[in-house]
Amino acid sequence: KSAQAIEALVVVKRLSEAGFTAYFAGGCVRDALLGKAPKDFDVATDAVPAAIQELFGKRKTLAFGASFGVIGVLPSASDRRKSIVPITPTEVATFRSDGLYSDGRRPDSVHFGNAEADAQRRDFTINGLFYDPIKRRIVDYVGGVEDIERQLLRTIGNPHERFSEDKLRMLRAVRFTTTLGFSIAEPTADAVRGHAASIGSVSGERIGVEMRRTMSSNHALDGLGHLQALGLSRYVLPELEKADRRLLDRLLTEDRTQDFSTSLACILLAIDEPMNALRSITERWKLSNEEVRVVTSAIHHSPTLIRANTLPWAEVQPILVDRDAEAIVEVSAALARATDAPSSGIHLALEALKWPRERLDPNPLIGGDDLKDLGVPTGPVYAKLLRQVRQRQLNGEFETKAQAVAFVKGQV
Ligand code: ATP
Ligand code: MG
Repeated sequence: KSAQAIEALVVVKRLSEAGFTAYFAGGCVRDALLGKAPKDFDVATDAVPAAIQELFGKRKTLAFGASFGVIGVLPSASDRRKSIVPITPTEVATFRSDGLYSDGRRPDSVHFGNAEADAQRRDFTINGLFYDPIKRRIVDYVGGVEDIERQLLRTIGNPHERFSEDKLRMLRAVRFTTTLGFSIAEPTADAVRGHAASIGSVSGERIGVEMRRTMSSNHALDGLGHLQALGLSRYVLPELEKADRRLLDRLLTEDRTQDFSTSLACILLAIDEPMNALRSITERWKLSNEEVRVVTSAIHHSPTLIRANTLPWAEVQPILVDRDAEAIVEVSAALARATDAPSSGIHLALEALKWPRERLDPNPLIGGDDLKDLGVPTGPVYAKLLRQVRQRQLNGEFETKAQAVAFVKGQV
């Protein structure tokens, strides 16, 4: 059991000894039933926020979203000493039912309620489960256990109402179906198709958060398929309409974990003018500088890398010492496969990544000081000479400093 799980268990025990009802709730119950390690353990209870704070003490609690009834409970000092992991508070949420939704994203008001009402306000049946860790039983008001067994994503209650309340749920539907490899119940899918055009009322940033998660699963291609089948892709990722579908299918066909940036780079490689598309996506989804850098490097360098074995080493080596080399090679491998290019370029690149540092990135034979000693006048010529020497070194033409010095003397 993870430290997180133990802390959540301690919280449930304290609440239950004080006479409250308390369960593990939502994603952690779903993941545990699926045999996956839950990301975090959320607790739901009938204790109101003030009662939770009183029970655990003001100094051990954080009023996260007190208005939404969420309190963070920190592990007690003795538990913390036993634990080597960083302290993460357990989120304890009071059972609630949500009021009307008028902005298509958040309820106007929330009311504290009982466990059943709290299950009913959640999005999908597989996310509406509770687990009582003391009695060791699942509390299922929504048919979630059966849907997990059937691998089916279904809204709780009327799908049309649920998607018009909160449009983001449409992308959560895509995300859960994709990452879990579930199918989507027909009435739920139908309702998404009906509301797809209103996804624009969700901020691009929130859309980006969901899309990252969908696209970092090892079923990214399925995710794009769901987006298209549900009528969402032309609003969320219109670039897809312009993609070479056959190439895209082949680029993303790979049954191993792709992270978001490499998946995005693969998608863009199937599009004309990938950099324009990247600029627009960056703007919409608020991509980080690092994400943009990885995607850009992968797009720029993969056509070179798949020919690595036919090029001078001085052209290939700088790519392999790039900080994003692994991602670039991964995307290049996808490109080579998708275009039926010979695999020898990728093999060489993969091999070179395993070389010891001094072989992959040998120390330069000469530096600026050497040029000064040789009486080369300072100026742009320095950089040019050093570059020329480096290229010859990497290409194996020069092996010694003497050869480099002789070359420089010949140039000035
Ligand atoms: P994970 O954390 O692995 O992404 P999760 O199911 O825990 O999955 P969260 O976004 O952390 O997802 O939300 C926790 C729980 O809150 C969900 O399981 C679900 O019951 C409920 N929930 C989250 N977002 C919504 C929403 N937009 N509408 C209704 N219920 C929601
Ligand atoms: Mg969660």
